[in-house]
Amino acid sequence: MPERTSRERVAVVTGAARGIGAAIAVRLAEDGLDVAVIDLDESATADTVSAIRATGARAIGIGADVSDAAAVEGAIGRVAAELGAPTVLVNNAGILRDNLIFKMTEDDWDAVLGVHLRGAFLMTRAVQAHQVAAKWGRIVNLSSTSALGNRGQANYSAAKAGMQGFTKTLAIELGRYNVTANAIAPGFIATDMLRATAERIGVPFEDFLAGAAKEIPVGRVGQPADIAAAASFFCSDAASFVSGQVLYVAGGPKD
Ligand code: NAP
Repeated sequence: MPERTSRERVAVVTGAARGIGAAIAVRLAEDGLDVAVIDLDESATADTVSAIRATGARAIGIGADVSDAAAVEGAIGRVAAELGAPTVLVNNAGILRDNLIFKMTEDDWDAVLGVHLRGAFLMTRAVQAHQVAAKWGRIVNLSSTSALGNRGQANYSAAKAGMQGFTKTLAIELGRYNVTANAIAPGFIATDMLRATAERIGVPFEDFLAGAAKEIPVGRVGQPADIAAAASFFCSDAASFVSGQVLYVAGGPKD
């Protein structure tokens, strides 16, 4: 069991029951933080909570929809009461509702913008009060290479481009409180989110991964740990002069 740091910072990671969020939550625990694991269904957070506790960190799992203002306020209140004031926030919860624009419904649009953008806004508004009071904080927002445009993802690309503008504005507003805000824009990361995409287009997941790897300069698809490593850096004290940045973690250049 690693030695705990004396600072005992508390992180909130949304959508952390699985995939990239789970990997970030466990990585932050390994870095010495206590972690609140937020996802839609509290029972789904059990595995991530166990993995965090196995590092020696404290953890709680909370069921909350990040796009629901009352649920977010309640969740952050619980974190503050049970773990202590949260000063690290990772806005990771996300969904896909892919469709070409002529088939995209208003529900497809609202659901995606609601989870990614409204969710990040509500969570950040709730957590920044604790960060400002502590005069220290870290915000990491999950964007995507799809922010640069991607067929079938008008809703998702708009949300992920929006996350970048949101991040830069947070960096400007909160910098004076020693709070940094940065975005990670992953490329192709092997998670259930893309397993669902493969199923939707009728391609076996392994073939989908192999096809994607051929297009990536480093010759492989990404893993959740690749994104967790970037999040770990942004949340560290070493990154205190890095704010308002978008880091593409995609196995090659993106612009
Ligand atoms: P994932 O495996 O689908 O996990 C997303 C998690 O978010 C799920 O546990 C999901 O819960 C939860 N969630 C969904 N809506 C929520 C809500 N309203 N409130 C709280 N939690 C909610 O996705 P992932 O691949 O790890 O992606 C994580 C983030 O990285 C997302 O923001 C995604 O857009 C971004 N990203 C992923 C990739 C990639 O290649 N995988 C690339 C670029 C960016 P349920 O299981 O109950 O739905």
